[in-house]
Amino acid sequence: MKAKFKVLIPEPKSKFLRVKCPNCGNEQTIFSHSTFPVRCLSCGTQLIYSRGGKAKIVGEVVRILG
Ligand SMILES: [Zn+2]
Repeated sequence: MKAKFKVLIPEPKSKFLRVKCPNCGNEQTIFSHSTFPVRCLSCGTQLIYSRGGKAKIVGEVVRILG
């Protein structure tokens, strides 16, 4: 008998990061495996780029929140 459903397990390596905007110094929390671009709330600089499942973080990671 074949299992009809699949349980989605959250990515264990994903975490929330506190990133400092390289442009204005604003700090904000972003998801490390974000699948969409995140912009600085203060100046609009793109802080995270999504590239085929892997996110590229722009700016300084000040803290990892787990
Ligand atoms: Zn900014």
